[in-house]
Amino acid sequence: MCSSTEHSLDPEDFDSFRRDAHALLDACLDHLKAARERPWRPVDGVARAALAPALPETGIGESRLARELAERVLPFSTGNTHPRFFGWVHGTGLAAGLLADMAASAMNSNCGGRDHGAIYVERAVIDWTRRIFGFPEDASGLLTSGTSQSTVIALAAARVHKLGHRVRASGLRDAPDHIAYCAAGAHSANQKALELLGHGAQALRRIPTTGPSGGMDLVRLEEQLATDRAADKRPFCVIATVGSVDTGACDDVEAIADLCAREDLWLHVDGAFGCWARIADRPWRDLARGLERADSLAFDFHKWMYVQYDCGAVLIRHADAHRAAFAMRPHYLEAQEEGLGGGDPWYCDYGIELSRGFRALKVWSCLRAYGLDRLAASISDNCRQAAHMARLVEVANELELGAPVVLNVCCFRYAPKGVDPQDQDALNRQIATRLQLDGKVVLSTTRLNERTFLRAAIVNHRTRDEDIDFAIAAVREACAGLAKR
Ligand SMILES: *Cc1c(COP(=O)(O)O)cnc(C)c1O
Repeated sequence: MCSSTEHSLDPEDFDSFRRDAHALLDACLDHLKAARERPWRPVDGVARAALAPALPETGIGESRLARELAERVLPFSTGNTHPRFFGWVHGTGLAAGLLADMAASAMNSNCGGRDHGAIYVERAVIDWTRRIFGFPEDASGLLTSGTSQSTVIALAAARVHKLGHRVRASGLRDAPDHIAYCAAGAHSANQKALELLGHGAQALRRIPTTGPSGGMDLVRLEEQLATDRAADKRPFCVIATVGSVDTGACDDVEAIADLCAREDLWLHVDGAFGCWARIADRPWRDLARGLERADSLAFDFHKWMYVQYDCGAVLIRHADAHRAAFAMRPHYLEAQEEGLGGGDPWYCDYGIELSRGFRALKVWSCLRAYGLDRLAASISDNCRQAAHMARLVEVANELELGAPVVLNVCCFRYAPKGVDPQDQDALNRQIATRLQLDGKVVLSTTRLNERTFLRAAIVNHRTRDEDIDFAIAAVREACAGLAKR
């Protein structure tokens, strides 16, 4: 016979666990404090082996684990904690988020529903975001793994709103040829959501863009709507983007809201990072005008609010449609009047996950610690830095800007004269790789007008103006090196 303590998975000696845990916390704090000295580090062979050990039939214990985490895992971060990480759209993470993750882990709350502290925290966060984006008090919301998941939820609600609850039983049999519309540069998450919901990629019309903010050409949008209606298609939704992933372009949400009202269409806004312009200074704030008129809004905290991965959210104006799209309470999930099984809402009724983690705490903590004003100041700084980068690009003869910088994204390329465009593309890819490997600056690449561009998306609260100077100097140095060869 063995006693239950022998089979316990809890620490045998809590005092020694405490010491090991404190040591790991110190390592985490050192990592954060030295973010500027710790760029992305390539995963070498030794590290790879350490990160992928054989299936652990027998464990090494918490003490060795704590050391392994500090020495073999922690150093190999993506690098987005560094002030010159501008690739893709990677948020930096905040010190308050580290504290929140610790507390959340100790609590191990399941936020699918029931009546306990974590639910009230999530409710508070959703309420705050409703206020920030001007949604009505009775709008519903949910924290998600990110804008991709938020988009699926929003479009599912849009469909129920437009087609009625029966779509849950009959699927798309009653809903053939439903069409959604978005800007040419809209994110792949929107197409994926329509694919996943069974409409297929062909149900998404990509409308060309125009104008200084790079938004959808509304004349073309109206033409496409008329064409589709004439062909017996059923337009149901317009997806506006505030902050396109490639260039930070913004649709004119107000004008699209007017159009959706006229045409009886659901207005979904993909505001993944860009919707946070709403709390920035002018002129950036104006790019987020009209968000309060959206039927649904998908956005992230893990990009431009700098909160740790992963955390996005969806807000839906029509709580009943949101609920109608997802609520399902079999016997084992019946609500109680009182006790842990009480409370309302249960978040499992607003999305596809039943068991859910306590994402809300990191958002709650970051907002509590820094306040909207400090986060907003950092967001405005990032916009200023992107504009500064654009000015440096414009005065560099060998560099060429890819698109006007309207928000926090700057695309540019090395375009040496007399080199054919394909070879220029290759050079730009080489520059991105070289600078990443050298740990100088992380840029990613994208294609604009059929050409490869270097791309900086600045969602980094650690970036200083000098980092922008350094980054462009490093690019120019890399260009000079390539020119000599
Ligand atoms: C990042 C991004 C998405 C997808 O969001 P995730 O949080 O990565 O799922 C969607 N749209 C835009 C504009 C984005 O930048």
